[in-house]
Order: sequence, then C-alpha cells, then structure tokens
Amino acid sequence: MNKKNVFQVFLFFVLFFFLPFFIPYQPRSKFKFLAAYYSVNLACGVYIIRKASRTISGIQRKTGDIAEKINLLIEDNSQETKNQASLKAKIRRYVSLEKIIEELNSSLSSEAVCEKLVQTAFSAIAASPSTCVLYLVDNQTNSLALYKTRKDNKSEVIKAKQGDIFDYWVLRHSSPLLIEDSAKDFRFDLDKVKSEDFRKVSSLISSPLISGRKLLGVLRLDNASANAYSQEDLRFLATVCDLGAVALENSILYQNTQEMAIRDGLTGLFTKGHFLELLKVDIKSAIRHNRPVSLLMMDIDFFKKYNDKFGHIAGDIVLKALSARIEEVIKDRQGECCRFGGEEFCAVLPGQDRVKAMETAEEIRKIISELKIVLRRQQARVTVSIGVAELSKSISDEIELLKSADKALYAAKASGRNCVVAAN
Ligand code: GH3
Ligand code: MG
Ligand code: MG
Repeated sequence: MNKKNVFQVFLFFVLFFFLPFFIPYQPRSKFKFLAAYYSVNLACGVYIIRKASRTISGIQRKTGDIAEKINLLIEDNSQETKNQASLKAKIRRYVSLEKIIEELNSSLSSEAVCEKLVQTAFSAIAASPSTCVLYLVDNQTNSLALYKTRKDNKSEVIKAKQGDIFDYWVLRHSSPLLIEDSAKDFRFDLDKVKSEDFRKVSSLISSPLISGRKLLGVLRLDNASANAYSQEDLRFLATVCDLGAVALENSILYQNTQEMAIRDGLTGLFTKGHFLELLKVDIKSAIRHNRPVSLLMMDIDFFKKYNDKFGHIAGDIVLKALSARIEEVIKDRQGECCRFGGEEFCAVLPGQDRVKAMETAEEIRKIISELKIVLRRQQARVTVSIGVAELSKSISDEIELLKSADKALYAAKASGRNCVVAAN
C-alpha cells in the first residue's frame, strides 16, 4: 500500500465514521439518524464487497481460462514451429532430389552411382553416429555382397559382409523396413543379429534397390541408439533407392554394352579388334623400355573333324573350355589373349622373350592335350598347334609380329600339329 492509498483509506474512515457527527441535526433524533446512517452504509458496504468479490472471482476465472488458452496456443505454436521446421527440412530434401537425379543419371559408371547413393543417404538422413551400408545382389550366388560403406565411427568394422537378417528380410519381402528399437521388435531374433555382427544396431532403415522386377541390392542406415529414424526418413530413403536403382541398372547396361564391344560372346575373351589395340600399346611400351615382347598364335587341330563328329554345339563347348585354360595361363604371366577368329586364339606376353614365350606356349599345349572333354558319355581330346614370334629388329610392329607368328603356326601344322614352333 502506498502513501496515496493510506490517505484514501484515512479519508474514507474520516468521512464514513466521523462526518455524521458534524452534520447539524436535532439532538433528539441523533441516535436514530446515526443508526440509520451506519445500517444503510453497512448494507451498501456488504453489497458492494460481495459484488466486488463476485466480480473478482469472475475475473480470476476468466484470467485462468485465458491463461489456459494462452498455454494451449503456446503449445500449438511450438508444435506448428516444429511442423514448419520438419516441412522445411522435407522441402529441402525433396528439392535436393532434383540435383540427386541429375547426378545419378549423368554417371555411366556403376561405381560412381553407388558412391552417390551412399553419400546421399548418409548426408541427407542425419542421425549421427550412423552407418550406411550398400549391398549388391551377386547374380551368380543370388546372395548379398557388401559393396560400399560410410560411417561416422571410422574404426567400426562391418562383419556381416553378406548382410544380416534385417537385409535378408528386405530382400525376401522386397519392401522397405523401419526398426525403431530392435530390442522391442519381435520380428527379429536379436541373438542371431549379434552372432552375425558385433555392432550394436538398435534402430535401422533399409530399402531395396529394385529396377523393373530385378532386385539389384539393399541400402541401409543403422544406429546404435533407438528411435534414430522416422517413417519420413524411410520414405526418403525409399525414394532415393528407387531413383538409384534405375541409374544403377542403366550403368550396368552401359557397362555390358561396352563389354560386349570388346568381349567375344562365346568365350568371353577379348575380340580381335580390342586385342590389336592392346598389342600396339604393349609393343610401344616394349620399345620404349627396351624390354622383350612375344606373341602366340594358336589354332585347334582338325577342329572341322571334331565338329563333324560331335556337332557344332559340342565344338562350342570345347572352344569355351580351351579359352578358359588359355586365359588362365596367360593372365598368370600378365599377358592378354583374344579369340582371333573361328578356332584361333592369340596372346601377347609383355616381358617374355622367344625362349620364355615358347615355355608358356608349351605349357598351354600340354594342358590342352591332357584336357578330358566328356560329351554324351564319350571322352574326346583336342590338341592345338602354336606359333611363337618375338619383337625384334626385323619384326618391329604388330603387323609383322602377327605375320611372323602366323608363319610359325603354319610350320607347326606342317610338322605334324600338337606342337610349338618359333619364328626364325
Ligand atoms: P587344322 O588342323 O588344319 O587347323 O584343321 P581344322 O579342321 O581345324 O581347319 P581349320 O582351322 O581351317 O578349321 C576351322 C574349323 O573350325 C571350321 C569350323 O568347323 C570350326 N569353327 C570355326 N569357328 C567355330 C565356332 O565358333 N564353333 C564351332 N563349333 N566350330 C567352329
Ligand atoms: Mg583355323
Ligand atoms: Mg584348326
């Protein structure tokens, strides 16, 4: 109470209690007047106080209601702010998709597409410390194979190189998976997860990479803490995977087309055209470094007869088997080989002189002559004749080298076949 209020109360008491004493009136009616005055004033006072207290409690009730409304509005506002922030993040993510699509589709290498996929998922879905793993489907074994990883904890080792039960669930169901808390998710046997990988995985999002009907792989993000990912994160990951799968399939098709241009369809060896390119490079390098380089020209003996006896399809099987053996030996010596045409093969041996090349040729001849080819319970054998030539002063380019090896091969055929002859 301040001075002004004290003065007002004082004035009220003076006026209320003492003023009537100063009003001139008949002494006879003094008591009656005072009684009437105080009664009326008291009644008025009680009335005013009651009314005031009712008004005050009404105001208090309204204040309470308003405070409650304010609290609700604050709550709504904070929820709205959160919604706005998540909406903004969502918009940012989906706007970034345009750039992601552009980057994914501009790349023709599977390696680059996979790198971009892992990088996008890892950076766009932040739930640190996360681990992002990309598994690709191995078409031969129909299983998963670890292809790329990205992780906050660099020292972490991923032991499940062929995926764990979560990845196989995604593979089996061909649909995305969200695990908010693995300890509470009764679809999976946690002991099995632990036996497959020692990493702690409490939450996870994973999505398959499907192009058309083909399952190409599985992309997943996992975290050691529970509830690290939301349904929205999974939706975004699934969208990235859908886009990535198309880009990956395109890059695989492109790679296959390129391979088809340089690989022979039947044997898988290089084609003649590509081999001649490699041969030119090897010859240039040999000249520059003053190192030897040799060429082998191989031809199957009496192959026409073999075809006539067993049929063309059986002949193709022989061609495949032989080329695999030849490639094994040549690759072992850092050389390259090709199907030169029909049933002729050619190989370049960088760093091998005539003597070494003859040893290699002899090894091939021996392996092939001992190869048992079983067809319709019938055992057949084939042999090859090999011509060898080394780059020298008189044989100084690929045309001459080829001619020289071909001449040596002709000599091998003339001297009874199933033998190795070196050019003079
Ligand atoms: P030689 O010992 O003199 O080499 O006798 P050859 O019968 O092998 O004669 P040549 O090398 O001229 O024979 C070529 C034969 O190779 C003709 C054809 O029947 C066979 N041939 C060529 N290309 C293929 C092929 O892609 N598949 C099969 N199965 N046979 C092929
Ligand atoms: Mg031939
Ligand atoms: Mg032949």
